[in-house]
Amino acid sequence: MKILVTGGAGYIGSHVVNALGERGHDIIVYDNLSTGHEWAVLCGKLEIGDIEDSSRLNAVMNAFRPDAVMHFAALIQVEESVREPLKYYRNNVANTLNLLDAMDRNGIRSFIYSSSAAVYGIPDKLLVDESVPLHPINPYGASKAMVETVLGDMPQTGDFRFIALRYFNVAGADPKNRIGQAYLDATHLITRALKTAQGEFAKLFIFGTDYPTPDGTCIRDYIHVVDLANAHLLALDYLMETRRSDIVNCGYGRGFSVREVVAAAKKVTGINFPVEEAPRRAGDPPQLVADSTKLRSITGWQPCHDDLEFIIRTAWNWELKLKQLKKQL
Ligand code: UDP
Repeated sequence: MKILVTGGAGYIGSHVVNALGERGHDIIVYDNLSTGHEWAVLCGKLEIGDIEDSSRLNAVMNAFRPDAVMHFAALIQVEESVREPLKYYRNNVANTLNLLDAMDRNGIRSFIYSSSAAVYGIPDKLLVDESVPLHPINPYGASKAMVETVLGDMPQTGDFRFIALRYFNVAGADPKNRIGQAYLDATHLITRALKTAQGEFAKLFIFGTDYPTPDGTCIRDYIHVVDLANAHLLALDYLMETRRSDIVNCGYGRGFSVREVVAAAKKVTGINFPVEEAPRRAGDPPQLVADSTKLRSITGWQPCHDDLEFIIRTAWNWELKLKQLKKQL
């Protein structure tokens, strides 16, 4: 199939592009390289462009005539979204409408969308399934929920179909160590812990130790980026075969506390990096674990890397490589 991948030079997008390439798909990556990297595009052709640019989107689609669009291009930093909400609504909502318009103009009717568990806000259920009501608590989560609303209305207008994948905590890197997370200011727990182990930060802060969880720290469902990439490919197959729109959670259905992640990071790296307990971070739900029954049942998805230490080991290998790459630049 011919697939246009926006944001395909970014962390998750690049892993999906690699998986698509391995299965022989014809790919165009459309990315403005604001947080992505040319070296991360292992397959297909890179078109440097912004999803704000309707005429360029139109020209690329017109020339390539993709069978489907996979949309990863988005801003993803929760704290930044609170400080600069308009930037998030413009990029994540308005520019996604541009993309959908360009698809419409070019008769492209199949869409895979990167959504997030942030749409749930602070859910009152321990295991979150897709029927849990959406109550996003920051502009980032709200921007993802808004696009889901738009998508929900679109199949009724004609021959359009989509799958939205709600990601839980994505982590890890390509087991062959060619690609991985390379944001300038990474705030995520595993990356932060590993950068602390490397000495990039003096210590790791544990945000909140008084949550109503067994060890007082927040629990999250960490999913390996390669398992997430495979979920996208299966979702695409499902969409093209059944033409049925749906929304699916992506996670393993098992949570780890911050303390458990820190202990695993120390074990994998062999480094007893400094850790300090700190106050809660605003807007963190105590527990966020996916019920991914629907993803498994409709697409047949089965994870291959449901192992916290493997996730951390691949992320650690990547951090070590990234440090060498930075030295060479
Ligand atoms: N966290 C932490 N220290 C850090 C980064 C994150 O204690 O330096 C905690 C954070 O408060 C949350 C969990 O780790 O409870 C996962 O946070 P992350 O930013 O990785 O993902 P989120 O769940 O916010 O998307």
